Amino acid sequence: MVDNPGVMMTDDVAVAAVDAARAALLEQVGDGVVGEYLEGVTEDDGVVTHYFTCIQTGYPGWRWAVTVVHAPGQDGITVDEVVLLPGQDSILAPAWVPWRERIQPGDLGPGDLLPVDEDDPRLVPTYLTGDPGDDATLDSAERQQVKVIADELGLGRPRVLSIEGRLLAAQRWYDGDQGPDVPLAQSAPANCYSCGFLVRLSGPLATGFGVCANEFANDDARVVSLRHGCGAHSEAQLRKKQLPPPLPDPVFDTLSRGDLEDF
Ligand code: SF4
Repeated sequence: MVDNPGVMMTDDVAVAAVDAARAALLEQVGDGVVGEYLEGVTEDDGVVTHYFTCIQTGYPGWRWAVTVVHAPGQDGITVDEVVLLPGQDSILAPAWVPWRERIQPGDLGPGDLLPVDEDDPRLVPTYLTGDPGDDATLDSAERQQVKVIADELGLGRPRVLSIEGRLLAAQRWYDGDQGPDVPLAQSAPANCYSCGFLVRLSGPLATGFGVCANEFANDDARVVSLRHGCGAHSEAQLRKKQLPPPLPDPVFDTLSRGDLEDF
């Protein structure tokens, strides 16, 4: 007989080893959680997995899987592994998502720390500000060197916003609640650009953004797009029909106490 490596051979000994598989399973998990036999699946030549229902409370649809091996030249089988596997109807935990992908703005509480990666593309060493090509060529050792030198020379912040970090921030702010497309801005009498309550920024972001300093505005103390706006604009005027009605002419009360007593 010529072996065909592409075709799995059914092994009668391994297929028939249901009782041995159940015995191995009961030895591992006890008899209170093992239900009826379900099926045997050939995994490879001489390797079969036998499935049993799991009747453990809280595990609907789960199945015990006992993999047995019948080695060539051996009379009996060897138990390879005993595991509990979910079926189609099993209740499973949602897929795990790394915390870095789960974290949202506002999640930080007092005392929490959120360190950035050493190669976070939003930041570049201070020396390289405005040089987008250089930051890509630095490995972490070189970055550390730059940081040490910057610290020693007292140059202040070791890292600052990269161009990418700046663009990301600008786009986020522009698209957010302090951007030009929100209803508040759409119905504003004028833009923040011309508002006396706008505090100008310095640096590249100053061309598009400032800080609102009107304590009665919704966006007080927030970075606003220069194309944002609100009804608390410093030059906002009420329309004629929105003005309060004029006061009537004053009436002089000339009655005295004596006049009243004469009545
Ligand atoms: S008061 Fe309104 S218009 Fe003026 S800066 Fe603040 S948000 Fe802009």
